[in-house]
Amino acid sequence: MTHSHRITVLPGDGIGPEIMEALMIVLESTGLKFVPETFLDFGARAGGELPKDVITSILRTGVAIKGPTATPLGEGHRSLNVQLREEFDLFANVRPVQTVPGVRTRYSDTPISLIVFRENLEDLYIGDESAIGGGYEAKSRITAVECERFARFAFSAAAMQGRHKMTIVHKANILKKTHGMFRDIAYAVAADFPAIECDDLIADNCFMQLVMRPERFDCLLLPNFLGDLASDICAGLVGGLGFAPGANMGNHGAIFEAVHGTAPDIAGKGIANPTSLILSGAMMLDYLGEKLSADIVRFATYAAIEAGKSTGDAPRVNGEKPLGTIAFAEEVAGCIRAANKAFAA
Ligand code: NAD
Repeated sequence: MTHSHRITVLPGDGIGPEIMEALMIVLESTGLKFVPETFLDFGARAGGELPKDVITSILRTGVAIKGPTATPLGEGHRSLNVQLREEFDLFANVRPVQTVPGVRTRYSDTPISLIVFRENLEDLYIGDESAIGGGYEAKSRITAVECERFARFAFSAAAMQGRHKMTIVHKANILKKTHGMFRDIAYAVAADFPAIECDDLIADNCFMQLVMRPERFDCLLLPNFLGDLASDICAGLVGGLGFAPGANMGNHGAIFEAVHGTAPDIAGKGIANPTSLILSGAMMLDYLGEKLSADIVRFATYAAIEAGKSTGDAPRVNGEKPLGTIAFAEEVAGCIRAANKAFAA
């Protein structure tokens, strides 16, 4: 009998509900059984607090799939993402970046495959800003305990995925204590993983090299703020935010979400690219122990795009007329059903 997975589903704001509907079509096609606990009101429209019923649900399921949520600029509530990460102690953000077959980019001739590991709880994101005479100051906190468990998680994950190199990225030339310690602890942890080569770069140099020679990188290890910036740069290398999945990982749970935001400029038009969320869903399947289905979802998504079936946000090599969000999901679901049939035969 097929085991069913209880999951918390948070569609979120902007394009969130559209791409979540697309993901549900894809998950359904895997033949796996899910018991979704869905919270349609989760997001900016519910105010800035994390709803109690959402917290209770995630405590019960241990795993959530989440659409983006809007955060007001300059004033208003703290990011719900930041609050969720803090509430569930999700200290590591994992963002794989991979060349998408069929999507034309500046690097189409250079296969890119890297993982961004972003510390998820500290740094400037503690939100400690206060008024000083003539302006404001923002505090950044980086602790040894957090550096150690984050680096250890990242090196372990990299080792499990057969990765060969980790580049520590920092501003230890300017932030000598906080980023200096982040770098030192990362090197100390690296000593326990001799199969993974380790080096470090100052962030400005790293970002320049990322856009000039992305193929030289394998895994990046970054403090929170730099990791946030690097994630979008890396998404740009492979076709944009439509192709960038992610996972917030802790020791007692995980929340999977795309790197991108609510995309207010295209929300409600049915044209958003659900690939990032679909690939985040594949990461969730890995986490749930459904490795074969996870691989089939990734394979089907890439196969559909390579065959020219995709949304219109990235220039395609094999360009057919762009599909809408749901039509693309139906294509992927069709590939998954075909793959499942082939496996069953
Ligand atoms: P954004 O990521 O929403 O959009 C940036 C650009 O990328 C836009 O042109 C958008 O149309 C495009 N884009 C993003 N996702 C796409 C997709 N799936 N398919 C096609 N195009 C896509 O960034 P923004 O406009 O700076 O932020 C909008 C809101 O999202 C803000 O309120 C911000 O706080 C929030 N945000 C939330 C998260 C999250 O919930 N994890 C992450 C980043 C930003």
